[in-house]
Amino acid sequence: MTMNIQKTVRVPFSAVVRRIAIPLIVMGAAIVLPFLLPGDRWVRVAALALIYVALASGLNILVGLTGLLDLGYIAFFIIGAYTTAVLTARVFVDGLGFDPDELWWLFPVSLALALVLSAVAGAIIGYPTLRARGDYLAIMTLAFGEIVRIVSINWVDLTGGSVGIRGIPPLSLGGSSPTGTYYAVLLMVVVILIAVAGLVASPVGRAWVAIREDELVASSMGIKTKRYKLLAYMCGAAVAGVTGVFFAHMQQFINPDSFTLEDNFIVLSLVILGGAGTFWGPVVGATLWIFFQAIARDWAIVQEHPEFRTGILALIVIVLMIVRPGGLVRRRLRLTRARHDAGSPGDGETPAPDPRRPRNPGAPTLQVDDVSRTFGGLSALRGVTLQIDHGEIVGLMGPNGAGKSTLLNVLSGVTPPSSGRISFEGIPLDRADSADVNAAGIARTFQTVRLFWDMTVLENMLVGAHGRLKGWVPAFVLRLPRTAKAERAAADEARRLLAFVGLGDREGELAKSLDYEGQRRVEIARALMTRPLLLLLDEPAAGMNESETRALADLIVRIRDAGIDIVLIEHDMDLLMGVSDRIIVLDHGVVIADDIPEQIRKNPLVLEAYLGSDA
Ligand code: ADP
Ligand code: MG
Repeated sequence: MTMNIQKTVRVPFSAVVRRIAIPLIVMGAAIVLPFLLPGDRWVRVAALALIYVALASGLNILVGLTGLLDLGYIAFFIIGAYTTAVLTARVFVDGLGFDPDELWWLFPVSLALALVLSAVAGAIIGYPTLRARGDYLAIMTLAFGEIVRIVSINWVDLTGGSVGIRGIPPLSLGGSSPTGTYYAVLLMVVVILIAVAGLVASPVGRAWVAIREDELVASSMGIKTKRYKLLAYMCGAAVAGVTGVFFAHMQQFINPDSFTLEDNFIVLSLVILGGAGTFWGPVVGATLWIFFQAIARDWAIVQEHPEFRTGILALIVIVLMIVRPGGLVRRRLRLTRARHDAGSPGDGETPAPDPRRPRNPGAPTLQVDDVSRTFGGLSALRGVTLQIDHGEIVGLMGPNGAGKSTLLNVLSGVTPPSSGRISFEGIPLDRADSADVNAAGIARTFQTVRLFWDMTVLENMLVGAHGRLKGWVPAFVLRLPRTAKAERAAADEARRLLAFVGLGDREGELAKSLDYEGQRRVEIARALMTRPLLLLLDEPAAGMNESETRALADLIVRIRDAGIDIVLIEHDMDLLMGVSDRIIVLDHGVVIADDIPEQIRKNPLVLEAYLGSDA
């Protein structure tokens, strides 16, 4: 493999066209739409479709990207709508006697206030749901949605109760005609979609998708998963809140009947129908549905039984889930703005892992002191004491069920130890979670490969860089140059590491489409991407043939030579004996030997452990 051959740029022309042309065509169609529609009624339908596009895109952050459920999403929409209705119509017009036509300056204030209030509500609903799962989560979000709706009915002094609030000034982009309103809402939708796309193609979006795909791995890449779930709730809620403000001004009147329990399910259905987790899915789902609904309004059967419309939606969703489970749109969202078209990584130089954080020179690398772990009555680890020194590859062996993986889980913060102490570079880690452990400089791979399967290789790698790409949400939304530069630097680093593990030209492939050896290598490279001082490998050669195993041994040695210590669990004795500087043997959760490979080979306790249990 030569590194200094200039690779050709491999971005197909059609991909570029699609990336730029589709948004432009859709945008153009949306701009001319009011002139093509047969009358004001249809322009109002189009504006309503845009409201639902915004709502579906906001809910998509939760349901589609992060994999969180919310059956009470409309609550945030209600909060936004009432915020502006109360502030504008009740306080400024009724209370302070302002002329509604002169209140244009209040609109941005309403927007900002609604954004903050709905985001706070999102945090309030999000916080308890972080602990709840499945059914409980569904009920909690549903209950929260109903609480907000019931408050809007019964807090008469504030909301006008069931009568609602009238006299909300109209949206005015070129007068208060339906067309002017449509363009105002269109502007909102465009801003929301660009903001969401910007956020998704940033460390935030990758953290969300990583959580959806594999929360444990996300955490072991240094992502504080609870924080990002909360952020997803806040962002989703803020989108709904802003949309609520536009909706209130569009209707100029709101009351509790403007929002029904059913709307929660409709918006959720639209996300699923269009394609959860995609960019265009919510847009397509919402547009098709609202126009369909407006057409169906003229049907005799629907005029007699309006609830038929929702019934039809339910039917469509069910049928679609059978024939096209992913929804109408399948195109993946881009999770980075870095191009998937690497030139050659570092002309001519041999790629190697980038410099890491400085070591704490006095402290031992890893110190494990009398660590035990029980599962119910079973002792998976009993009084394990060991130390890893700088510059070592330490092999960890033992029969099946000896506790090797459990030890790795305990070291990496996946499983807390039942007792004992762990410190790394002088930092106590026995109470740390996976994200803390990773931040301290320990990275790991898993016994069964665990990649983010729906991400590209490069995106997987960039998740590994999460810890050094942090930033403010607005900075990602606005795509500030500084964050873009950091992202490009991380992508370059990813390319060097991919070349280092022998996958120099695979960055654009989906993880799930890689061959098995490639997946193993990406998992190692992704762990290296977190710039660890210590790398824990759980049976990396499992399922590999002989030549693949030899190549892996070579890679492991090169990682150690780059200054990263390694703990290696392996069943392949040739590999383990060949690369390890020292081997620790576990049996029934107890360390029975800790020595150089030549001594381990003839250690009677080790021979007995293997003959006694496995042979
Ligand atoms: P190894 O990796 O050495 O094959 P493990 O660490 O996976 O062994 O397992 C050690 C013992 O702990 C086994 O008896 C296993 O069944 C048990 N064990 C591991 N994880 C759990 C768990 N989450 N719950 C209950 N028992 C577990
Ligand atoms: Mg294991």
